[in-house]
Amino acid sequence: MTNMTKPWQDKLRKVEPYVPGEQSKNKNIIKLNANENPYPPSPKVMEVLKNMDTKKFSMYPNAGGAPLVDALAEYYGVERDQIFTGNGSDDVLALSFMSFFNSDKPILFPDITYSFYPVWCQLFKTPYKTKAIDDNFMINSKDYYEENGGVILPNPNAPTGISEGKEFIKDILDHNRDCVVIIDEAYVDFGGYSCVELLKEYENLVVIQTFSKSRSMAGMRIGVAIGNKDLIGVLNAVKNCYNSYTMDSVAIECGTASVKDDEYFRQTLNKIIASRERSTKAFEDLGFTVFPSHSNFIFVTNPNIKAKDLFETLKKENIFIRYFNLPRINNHLRITIGTDEQMDILTEHIKNYIKNH
Ligand SMILES: *Cc1c(COP(=O)(O)O)cnc(C)c1O
Repeated sequence: MTNMTKPWQDKLRKVEPYVPGEQSKNKNIIKLNANENPYPPSPKVMEVLKNMDTKKFSMYPNAGGAPLVDALAEYYGVERDQIFTGNGSDDVLALSFMSFFNSDKPILFPDITYSFYPVWCQLFKTPYKTKAIDDNFMINSKDYYEENGGVILPNPNAPTGISEGKEFIKDILDHNRDCVVIIDEAYVDFGGYSCVELLKEYENLVVIQTFSKSRSMAGMRIGVAIGNKDLIGVLNAVKNCYNSYTMDSVAIECGTASVKDDEYFRQTLNKIIASRERSTKAFEDLGFTVFPSHSNFIFVTNPNIKAKDLFETLKKENIFIRYFNLPRINNHLRITIGTDEQMDILTEHIKNYIKNH
């Protein structure tokens, strides 16, 4: 068939969407490709669901996200007007791009980072410039000294897992007083440095976190922005320009229960951190270079193994990990930390692969 051009087609938006780690209906797969948490959310979340009064579904949820916002304000030790909640941190990030990155100057972010950033730039027509991370995959803070329309960095970075400390973040902030700096802390709970404490010092800082990884609630879609009340006010205004109710009442209540159960949260984090250290050693023993990770995944490469081939072989064996066919990282693999049992099965499969190649 000929590819006929319809007269209305030139009016359509041309976009290249972000591609998330794939999902599968097969229950027997070991899924280590989307940085999901292998453990369930807090049992307090289950209690909320069991006791949920469905009559309230006939009413709109609280547009401001209370009581989740109140629980988060207490958790972070900030005022409630410094907290914004949204439908996953992707929603919060997209709104932040719209709210804070409105300059003609390019925003800056690393060349190897969360691949959704350039997609939002394209969607919102935000000019941007990427800055090459070095050969050890470290971000150079001096790259962010030049004039710009804003800065966004994940800390820890994705997909490298490498994190930076307080001095590094302060250096970026000190050299970017006249734009908004967003730090995407999707993985910070797994041992990284959280710059929430710097909000007192820097009023142009916005910290974004998610319930998807450390709180085992990716399916519930909860994201948070923390910043000074003027910036949070703009986020709310922009949100209210397209949808007053980004968060549903179930997510608001379940999220609140999760925040209030700090003990379970810490226990789960500690289990994943211990498995990460154990897996790091196992991969090093198999000849891989493992980048130092403060997240719930490891980023690995092995000069004797073709990453793409190993990725495809494991997929046939029902083990999903993540491969990015991108410059500089096309012989690397990102592996989510699952349970010790899952990680043992994975390393057994890799041992076999090495034996047969
Ligand atoms: C997973 C992730 C997000 C988005 O998570 P949500 O599920 O939308 O909350 C944002 N930033 C980074 C760096 C991530 O890895």
